[in-house]
Amino acid sequence: MSLDFGPAVALSCRECGTRYPLGPSFACLECFGPLEAAYSFGTVTRKDIESGPANIWRYRSLLPVPVDVASKPNMNPGWTKLVKAGNLGRALGIKSLHVKDDSGNPTHSFKDRVVAIAVEAARNFGFHTLSCSSTGNLAGAVTAAAARAGLDACVFIPAGLEQAKIAMARVFGGSLIAIDGNYDEVNRFCSELIGDPLGDKWGFVNVNLRPYYAEGSKTLAYEIAEQLGWRLPEQIIIPIASGSQLTKIDKGFKELIQLGLVEDAPYKIFGAQAAGCSPVSSAYKAGHDVVQPVKPDTIAKSLAIGNPADGPYVLDIARRTGGAVEDVTDAEIVAAIKLLASTEGIFAETAGGVTVGVLKKLVETGQLDPEAETVVLNTGDGLKTLDAIADDAVPSAVIRPSLDAFREFHAAV
Ligand SMILES: *Cc1c(COP(=O)(O)O)cnc(C)c1O
Ligand SMILES: [Zn+2]
Repeated sequence: MSLDFGPAVALSCRECGTRYPLGPSFACLECFGPLEAAYSFGTVTRKDIESGPANIWRYRSLLPVPVDVASKPNMNPGWTKLVKAGNLGRALGIKSLHVKDDSGNPTHSFKDRVVAIAVEAARNFGFHTLSCSSTGNLAGAVTAAAARAGLDACVFIPAGLEQAKIAMARVFGGSLIAIDGNYDEVNRFCSELIGDPLGDKWGFVNVNLRPYYAEGSKTLAYEIAEQLGWRLPEQIIIPIASGSQLTKIDKGFKELIQLGLVEDAPYKIFGAQAAGCSPVSSAYKAGHDVVQPVKPDTIAKSLAIGNPADGPYVLDIARRTGGAVEDVTDAEIVAAIKLLASTEGIFAETAGGVTVGVLKKLVETGQLDPEAETVVLNTGDGLKTLDAIADDAVPSAVIRPSLDAFREFHAAV
């Protein structure tokens, strides 16, 4: 079997730096730290990137994927819109604000980015089944990508997810297994399955393929910088589930600086959680380096990870860059979904309510500079979490088809 991971040359332990050959491994044998992809980049120019396709493969020379990746059947996610959000900015008192709207991906969440890289790793390792533990969006992204790549899929979710997310995961085929427990229990179960002969030749995108999968989030950093005209934003607000996306956006920004693709300018990274699942925000506020696990209870189910694997790294990054980690209540999440929708015409899922709600709170508490260029992420589509705005999921009025009836309604509003 000849492996082709493009510019990636090894897996490296994030804790102790021990290097391992590129393989389906995810934990350091010396210290149990998480492994991540290490690279030897060639020369990469803005021009090379700009002449690439309008999806994440324009950055293939910065990702652990083969050079001919775009020629294989895959979902081609990315290159989503960076929307200039003048109305929302005015409503919140922020001078320059953009929304990076990742609901525009093939299965309507940012997860298509990470899964696309995991599919390439699964191909490399000759895996026949694609699997994951999911808080909802990942299950749909995996089953869709498996369908197109010609792989089997068997994905695991906690029971009690939104109906739209279950439908998104079912419609593409494969098996969808709901586990009577929360996400952290689903994740523990998947770790057991990996060690069992039943899970042989299975690629769990966010477990044994995690070092590859996680790199997909770097593309958000690359796109934001390119779409700003090859500049880093001064402030960015990122949602936290496991914390992987946040740490990889930081890694992406650092690589752009290192490769000379953007000017070396400071940026502040802010993490956003729901109050009903805010272990990282609590640790940040308490000044702790360790994250105390919690039992999630929030409408932001896609972010409901009570024991986030990358929590300590998120704390490091928020503190090192001069950002912060903040949380908002379910009521604030709903209000923020409606604020974003009514100012910018963007319908976010609850995770987008979390980031916009946190953005508002950061301004109000003086933690965010309203004069600095700011980007807020929306990572998923509001059609997947309709229950959050159930009160508004009905018509303003039901009337007879007559002008008189409409006049009556019109006079009343
Ligand atoms: C998975 C997910 C995230 C972030 O996940 P991390 O585990 O922190 O990388 C953010 N938003 C949505 C909608 C998601 O589904
Ligand atoms: Zn180690």
